[in-house]
Amino acid sequence: MANVSTLRFGAQTDEVTSLLRIVNMVRSGEAVTRPEIGRVTGLGRGVVAQRVDRAVEMGFLEDAEYAPSSGGRAPRTLRFRTERGRIVVCALGGLHIHVGVTDLDGTILHEAHRAWDIATGPEQTLATATTMVDELLAEDDGTAVWAIVVGLPGPVDFDSGRPVAPPIMPGWNGFDVRTVFEQRYGAPVWVDNDVNLLAAGERARRRDENTDLIYCKVGTGIGAGLVSHGRLHRGANGAAGDMGHVRVPGSEHVCRCGKTGCLEAVAGGWALVRDAHAAIADGATGLLADSAASGDELTPEVVSRSAERGDPLAISLVQASARHIGEAVAALVNMFNPSVIVVGGAVASAGELFLAEVRHRVYELSLPLATRDLVIRTSENDRSEPIRGGVDLAREQLFEVSLPRWFADGRPTVAAVRGA
Ligand SMILES: [Zn+2]
Repeated sequence: MANVSTLRFGAQTDEVTSLLRIVNMVRSGEAVTRPEIGRVTGLGRGVVAQRVDRAVEMGFLEDAEYAPSSGGRAPRTLRFRTERGRIVVCALGGLHIHVGVTDLDGTILHEAHRAWDIATGPEQTLATATTMVDELLAEDDGTAVWAIVVGLPGPVDFDSGRPVAPPIMPGWNGFDVRTVFEQRYGAPVWVDNDVNLLAAGERARRRDENTDLIYCKVGTGIGAGLVSHGRLHRGANGAAGDMGHVRVPGSEHVCRCGKTGCLEAVAGGWALVRDAHAAIADGATGLLADSAASGDELTPEVVSRSAERGDPLAISLVQASARHIGEAVAALVNMFNPSVIVVGGAVASAGELFLAEVRHRVYELSLPLATRDLVIRTSENDRSEPIRGGVDLAREQLFEVSLPRWFADGRPTVAAVRGA
């Protein structure tokens, strides 16, 4: 039996390459029996058997039930052992922390959510987030953590795992978020912008691997995630898609970032709440005014729910937001030519009301060729969306990007993934 550690030094490059490919084939479902693997790879029966034995020995694959017979002896199917590791996703928003633990297949095993202001700063926020993760892992059976993905509501330098001049996160600029998690959990960590997590989740839902997609999130803040030919486009500094703080001509509203006239200060969730209070103070009546009068806190969710229920003030606020978003998205469509635009977030959860206005503006302001095959729709918009998206990012980084670096160890380690 060849020593597993010899794999590391590249002597048997062909062997390692085919081994990695077979593990990923079974993992993705591309080929799950030895004869299928032989057909797809062109490798001989003996070589396939030997490679599969090795993958079983290393703990990646195991024999499962028999496949339906097509005449001869039914082949045994193989399965990827999704239970061997855990993926942790820690999605930090402007006003909440959402954490989840999944198996390697992305099945969510444990989840927790709490309100939290990101402006509290990195030390306290990360202490709270890691305590939430610790609690979820304590509920689990002790299976090793293989990967952690952290989402932040601002630009992130993906290579270093640090936020870059985030407009609404005082104290976070350059903070080494990745090391905090890597040291605590001893697993490789990837840090990314929160909307990139959502865009990754939408990418995973599509069969077309080469999708060109824009995910536009309209929550308290506004941001976009860009997927170009199946790859997240982060830009030179991680700022790609950070559209919330572009200037809206003619607006004099002061933004949370300190500038004047940002898109977010006109169309973001907090701006809608501000405008709702102003309109009610000016004598507007209806559902929203009644909610406010009864002492309920007005939130972006309350505004969009009231709009869905037909409240005229809420409808006009949501439509005004959608109009501005549609204009900003139209500019992106002309430059980026996506095939799909997904709108998500609390404000966009007003559904068709919001979507119709965005569509209207995009078609009106975009070039005909850029919109010929364009699909615009709302996201699933449930609470687990960031967790599913984070898992997709983790699986991409683990199995498609870094697998050759840690494969010989049988499980990912920080040192192997970081190439130390
Ligand atoms: Zn701003």
